[in-house]
Order: sequence, then C-alpha cells, then structure tokens
Amino acid sequence: MDILRGIKGAPDWLPPEAGAFDAVERAFLDTAALGGYERVRTPVFEPTEVFARGVGASTDVVQKEMYTFEDKGGRSITLRPEGTAGVLRAALEAGVPRSGTLPVKWSYAGEFFRYERPQAGRQRQFTQVGVEALGATDPVLDAEVVLLGWEALKRAGVGEMTLRINTLGDRVDRPAYHERLNAYLDDFEGDLPPDVAERRHLNPMRAFDAKAPGMAEIMAGAPLLADHVNDEAKAFHEEVCGLLEAEGLVLTHDDRLVRGLDYYTRTTFEYQAAGLGAQNAVGGGGRYDGLAEDLGWPEPFPGVGWALGVDRTLLALGEAAAPPPRAEVFVVAADPTLAPQAFGLVARLRRAGVAADQAFAGRRMKAQLKLADRSGARLALVLGADELARGVVTVKDLASGSQREVADAEVLAAVTG
Ligand code: AMP
Repeated sequence: MDILRGIKGAPDWLPPEAGAFDAVERAFLDTAALGGYERVRTPVFEPTEVFARGVGASTDVVQKEMYTFEDKGGRSITLRPEGTAGVLRAALEAGVPRSGTLPVKWSYAGEFFRYERPQAGRQRQFTQVGVEALGATDPVLDAEVVLLGWEALKRAGVGEMTLRINTLGDRVDRPAYHERLNAYLDDFEGDLPPDVAERRHLNPMRAFDAKAPGMAEIMAGAPLLADHVNDEAKAFHEEVCGLLEAEGLVLTHDDRLVRGLDYYTRTTFEYQAAGLGAQNAVGGGGRYDGLAEDLGWPEPFPGVGWALGVDRTLLALGEAAAPPPRAEVFVVAADPTLAPQAFGLVARLRRAGVAADQAFAGRRMKAQLKLADRSGARLALVLGADELARGVVTVKDLASGSQREVADAEVLAAVTG
C-alpha cells in the first residue's frame, strides 16, 4: 500500500523551516501589538454569505477559489479565503460600532484557504497575519496602518521592498467610472477573455487584474479611476501619502492597483519584496468603508487594514530566514549511569527558562556531542562521575571548543551570564 499523502497546495512545515515560519508570524504580531492592536480569533469557517457579500461577487476569490460545502444541517459553509470579512462580521455581531471607544484596533493570525493553482508562493492553504482598525475615517489611521505593515515586514527581516499605493475613491465615485470603463471596454468586446467579459458588468475594475495575454495592452489606454475620485477623497489620499513620506517611505504611486477584493475604497496598497518573481506581493490592504453595509449593518462603519502572507514572506527571506536554535544548552552525560543527574540538570535549566536538551537511548559521549552541535546549542554541560564527586560540571563552548569547570551551584549563572 502506498503511504497516504497530504493535499496538493497545502504544505507541511517541518523543522527547521517551521521555526522560521513561527518567527515571522511572531514578528508580525509583535509589531501589531506595539501599535496597540489587540488579538482576536475568529472561526476558520463562516456562512458562505459572509464572503460572497463581503469579498464581492465579481472577484476571483468568490467566483473560483472558495472551499464551499454544505454541512449536515444543509447550511452553506466556506473555509475563510481572507480575514477582513470574518473579523468585521464578528465586530458587528458584538455591537462594536455602538461601543463608543472607536476605533478598535485588532490583529489576527491564522490559516486561509483558496482553491488556486499551486505554484511557488501560491498555495491552497496559507497563513496570514492581519490588522483591522475599525470605526474611524482619518488619514492618520491609514498612514499608521500602512507604516505598521512596512515595519512588520522589516522586523521579520525582509530586505528590499516596494510600497505601491493608490486611492480608489469612494463608492459614490464608482457608478460613473464603471460606466466610462465599460464604454471603453465595449470597443474591445471581441478581444476580452471570457471571465472579464462576464464580470465586467459586475465590476469592470477587475479587468485591471486580468492576466490574460493582450489585456495589459487593452488596459493601457483605459480611463483611470484616479480621474474620477472626488476632491475630499483626493485630499485624504494626499494626506496619507504625505504622512508616510514624512516617515521616510518611498511610495510607488500605481493608479492601476485595484487589488483582488471588491470591498476597497480610498486607500489601497501592496508591499512587494524584491526577488520573488510573479508572486511578489508579500502583503497588502486598504480601506473598506462600505463593507459593514455589505454585511448587513444599517449604516456606514469604516475600517482599514492589511494582511501579510507568512508563507510568502518566508520565501522572500530565503537563506535569511532564521529559525531559533532548538536548545541553548545541551547536557551530556559521560557515562550512562549519570542519566538521572543529566535528567535533573536539564529539568533545572528549563525551570530557570533556559532552553535545554539532552541525548537519549544511552549514546556514547562523542555521539552526544555531535547531537549537541546539531541542536544549535551554544554550550554543552558535560557531567562526569569524577567531576560530580567534586561538585563541578564542565561547561564547553561549542563554537570555540574551549571549556572550563564550574561549581554545581554556579551552573545557572554560568549559562545565563
Ligand atoms: P490578499 O488577501 O489576496 O490581499 O493577500 C494578502 C497576502 O496574503 C498576499 O500578499 C500573500 O502574501 C498572501 N497570500 C494570498 N494568497 C495566497 C496564496 N494562495 N498562497 C500564499 N500566500 C497567499
């Protein structure tokens, strides 16, 4: 019988890469926490409506990529393909808009699912960390969010990056613009790929994202939303950009950046990492002032946020991805009769907060020292019968090979000092 295999596009993360993966996730979450964003946890599945209405019927995500199934109660359920719709659904359900202490600033981390064609940097299960700032329309908040994402990627170790930014204006600007864009696309009706031809009456802006051959040429002459943005939204965007530039960020203004989700209004942005090829966006986000109403809230409730991809960031880090060492200190017993003492010393180190490990199954000293090296530990503590009788332990520096004896009572100080 063949061994069972996992699902295509749903990667296994094993040591040491899984350690590096955690380090990236932690760097993102720590940065969010520095900005006052509090953790939330929402379900990995939601009623399908949350995404169908939230993410938007014209998007690839909703049209082609959702893992949707009927549960035993006959309800249509979808594995979350993105974070914002579910988090906002939770906020509305909890009555956050009426809480009086707005904005609330939340962060999340977890697994997301899209039925995409798996390739480097594009999977069917992937991990995102995200932030959402809900309940305020203020350019300072947009700038905070954009800057925080940048800092989060830097903290995770990403080197060269580009920040692409655009404004999509408000929803009131859309109908007139959609009409103009559709009128423009009419002239190319016969040349449009079927999905653009079908979806352009739901949202012609999708055509900017279409990758089919010839589309880039067609769209090169398309009317731009930037020319249809109302003055207030324009001034808002200029303020956001000004704040970011004052912090030293170099902005790449991209008036074709519409992003793959329908809910964005005003600010949209994407972080791209150098050297990633086609899938070079490590994260992105924007403002979504109309989303709450799409989810059934009776009045506008604004929000702005981003999601950063952990898997793809790790890809961008390449060799620079650094899993933490498995142990700081490795305890080596010179002969098998000292196993209880080694066990006791490892326990003592761990209680003191030192990551410690040892060998098992009665290995010889040389093999134990090899394992010590492999563990990434800085120090080996070698226990010998003679030394123990004298109340000392040998502390060996695994990088330099130098060693010295330390009194048993001083061991903790010696490894932490
Ligand atoms: P999005 O939710 O599409 O705005 O994506 C935000 C970030 O999540 C992207 O920049 C990627 O880093 C990551 N991401 C999105 N889709 C995938 C996928 N299928 N596989 C791996 N990472 C993804």
